[in-house]
Amino acid sequence: GNAHYLNSQQKRESNARSYPRRLPMALCEAKGMMVKDADGKTYYDCLAGAGTLALGHNHPVLVEAIEQVLASGLPLHTLDLTTPVKEQFVDELFAILPADLSKRAKIQFCGPSGADAVEAAVKLVKTATGRGPILSFHGGYHGMTHGALSLTGSRSPKENVSGLMPGVHFLPYPYPYRCSFGVGGDEGNRLGSRYIENMLDDPESGIVSPAGMIMEIVQGEGGVIPAPDEWVREMRRVTRERSVPLLIDEVQTGIGRTGKWFAFEHSGITPDVLILSKAIGGSLPLAVVVYDESLDIWEPGAHAGTFRGNQLAMAAGTATLKFIREARLTEHAAVAGEQLMNALLQIQRQADCIGEVRGKGLMVGVEIVDSDQAADRIGSYPAHPQLARCIQQECLSRGLILELGGRHGSVVRFLPPLIITEEQIDDIAWIFGESVMAAQR
Ligand code: PMP
Repeated sequence: GNAHYLNSQQKRESNARSYPRRLPMALCEAKGMMVKDADGKTYYDCLAGAGTLALGHNHPVLVEAIEQVLASGLPLHTLDLTTPVKEQFVDELFAILPADLSKRAKIQFCGPSGADAVEAAVKLVKTATGRGPILSFHGGYHGMTHGALSLTGSRSPKENVSGLMPGVHFLPYPYPYRCSFGVGGDEGNRLGSRYIENMLDDPESGIVSPAGMIMEIVQGEGGVIPAPDEWVREMRRVTRERSVPLLIDEVQTGIGRTGKWFAFEHSGITPDVLILSKAIGGSLPLAVVVYDESLDIWEPGAHAGTFRGNQLAMAAGTATLKFIREARLTEHAAVAGEQLMNALLQIQRQADCIGEVRGKGLMVGVEIVDSDQAADRIGSYPAHPQLARCIQQECLSRGLILELGGRHGSVVRFLPPLIITEEQIDDIAWIFGESVMAAQR
């Protein structure tokens, strides 16, 4: 019945309406940060599975690790029973956790998606505290399942979904390009943390005893917005003083992407709960929650999941962590990210439509604005989602895959594999610059 309005391209991604269809091609081959489509055209992949492909496509160490498991006769799936593959994964993961977390850490395998880990983490702190309300942040993204979607701080994905999880309270997240929190006054006022602290102490706010606070250190889907380190430390202080578990969602930022193994390390805090997925499985589905032993009060059997024993994903994850460690890709991500940011800042000087270039490590965003409109009080221009989409298409035609995020999809996001080289950064910056100029015309 519907077939007549679906062209063949739309059928390729899926015939369901929910697919955005902004990247109209079928991919047939991939290596490193390059992918090739059915017509033989190659692209730089700066989406990389939304940050999943830390080592890029088909990295030899990944392929070898997966082939080894397949050739060994080891079981591919064991539910929760342990195997040498699982033990190696846990050892490798615990070795990269900061010491104050690893010595008290418990691990729940969830699976296999980031949203599954978010669900588990929130359920865990609700059990541990015996409380219900959860604090989350405007612009945050935690997944598309009912619970995770309820915690997601943007309106559009929740529209027309009734009966979401109650008891979620959204707090303001720093967004310096659009708003400087409370002006003047003391430090806490400037950071907006005083406001949040007051809400937590105000019986009329209804959030006096929350079960937890969940946040990203750099909002990813929300538009690549890094929270200032002092603000992160303030949130840690405010939650610790009130015995509220702090849940850090590092599904996108984790495993070296921001220039450290975990983005929370930039501010020197320790979370009570750490949520990991994407790169942790080396491009295969895997998700875990790591948490402080004080929260380890679930009865045996209180949580389960059929696919949390995926051996291939654990082997790929171990190989990824090991390679990042040995090749010092966290340091590389910091240096490469700076090179990319500097190249983009250079382009910004010639392009009024670039409102801001921001990011941390190899998680970089470019906010596209309408500079023909009037600037607001702090000198920022309105978002320009149509132009952002146009730039994305111009990039695509020149062989560069980028995704959009942020308010109305007005932020162009760079999430390249951590193995990206200096020359590749020069190339993608050049393509991006050409595309911005072409789209502006
Ligand atoms: N949290 C964050 C910060 C994410 O970026 C994402 C995915 N983009 C998720 C959770 C959800 O992960 P998944 O899509 O695997 O469910």
